[in-house]
Amino acid sequence: MTTTMKNKNKEANTEQSADKGTGRRKKVQIPSGEPAGRLICPECGNDRDFVELATDVILTTHFVQNRDGSFSPVDHQSNVLGEVRLLCAHCDTDITRFHAHFQEMVF
Ligand SMILES: [Zn+2]
Repeated sequence: MTTTMKNKNKEANTEQSADKGTGRRKKVQIPSGEPAGRLICPECGNDRDFVELATDVILTTHFVQNRDGSFSPVDHQSNVLGEVRLLCAHCDTDITRFHAHFQEMVF
């Protein structure tokens, strides 16, 4: 959160990060939209619909069997083993470089 506040007036850095989860520290990239930090797709201008795409996910669901033999889910957990990407929901442009910022802004 403090990173967001510190960098909110800086222009977004557009360089793509080449490393993919190799443990190196990644700088949080802040979009340059208005108001500061508002995410806008660089390809189509969409600023409303975004998709977070996770690969290699383990879903564990706890079911209870009812008296009539049917089952009801009572709890589920998901573990992401692969990478998580952020995409524009309109044109599928990969904007994963803003994913760290996106996560900070999910409430
Ligand atoms: Zn787009």
